[in-house]
Amino acid sequence: MPREEWVVVGLDNGGNKNNGTVLDASRRFLLDRLVETPSRVKEGPEVAVGALAEAFDGILKVTGVARERVRSVGLATPGPASADGVISSRGSTNFAHAGWGGFDFRGALADRLRLPVVYNNDGNAAALYAHHVCFGADAARHSSISAIVGTGLGGGVIESGRIVKGAAGMAGELGHVHIPMDGLLAEGQPTPHCNCGFDADAESVASLTGIEKNLLPYWLKQFAGHELAKAPSMAKAAMAVRGLGEKGDPLARRIFEQQAMALGRLFTIAANFTDPSAYFLGGGVVETSPEFREWFLAKVRENTFLREEQERVARFALVPDLDMAGARGAALGALESLTTR
Ligand SMILES: [Zn+2]
Repeated sequence: MPREEWVVVGLDNGGNKNNGTVLDASRRFLLDRLVETPSRVKEGPEVAVGALAEAFDGILKVTGVARERVRSVGLATPGPASADGVISSRGSTNFAHAGWGGFDFRGALADRLRLPVVYNNDGNAAALYAHHVCFGADAARHSSISAIVGTGLGGGVIESGRIVKGAAGMAGELGHVHIPMDGLLAEGQPTPHCNCGFDADAESVASLTGIEKNLLPYWLKQFAGHELAKAPSMAKAAMAVRGLGEKGDPLARRIFEQQAMALGRLFTIAANFTDPSAYFLGGGVVETSPEFREWFLAKVRENTFLREEQERVARFALVPDLDMAGARGAALGALESLTTR
């Protein structure tokens, strides 16, 4: 089949929804909107693979693309999983059903669709998408790092336009990089703890979980009588912090300042480690008001210590189209697997 005719499909498998897209060989997305269907991951792997196959058929129908034109499929899911798409044997938040532990998700989808499937975790997929939006045809000549703040802290490292996966598929686990805490924590503020077992890593501060477990309990004590003290649970209160931050609430802004400082320190490590051309920031914070997200990005930048030579070339930007970034990055990953350098 001539190159102009073939396409790749990107599928982003989330806790509740699948999202899909189609990309042609000239790197043009055939869809400019979100197409979501239920992911049914809670019902176990067999049902979920079927739901993905339906999402695949659905996306071809919406775009009017014949199945014969599909050369490869990109699959993105939350981690932890191996570089080849085998879900961690310990399971995870998204894959709680007993059938998921050690399940070869990529292989099962490839068998079902009878097509090659390329796997990336959703953080890496979003990082690849951000990289391509920023650098376009020049993507292969640049490197970047993306930090995506959600329930945890995900993201990815892109080197010469490609995802750095690592030996076990665990490269780019930015959330569990240790960062210095002096000057970040306020007086008497306890050392933050992460679900992974580490103290004082980036996710222990820069994540929704970090707000709930570490930051909010401390800051509520400093702001006696704050409205969030009346929330039914610390989890509910943590989810309200972003909205309050947008309105300029002082407690919320203190929390976001600490998160920005943690992200800046993480980016400083990246600057000295791989010296990327661009630093991308994504997650819930991107979906806030322009004033708030620009304030946050500026704070992150302020706390990223670059050398003068790096300052001249480094770009800082928000991850665009976050809700489509996983599917689009998955498609880019599949397209890259077909191109050799
Ligand atoms: Zn951690």
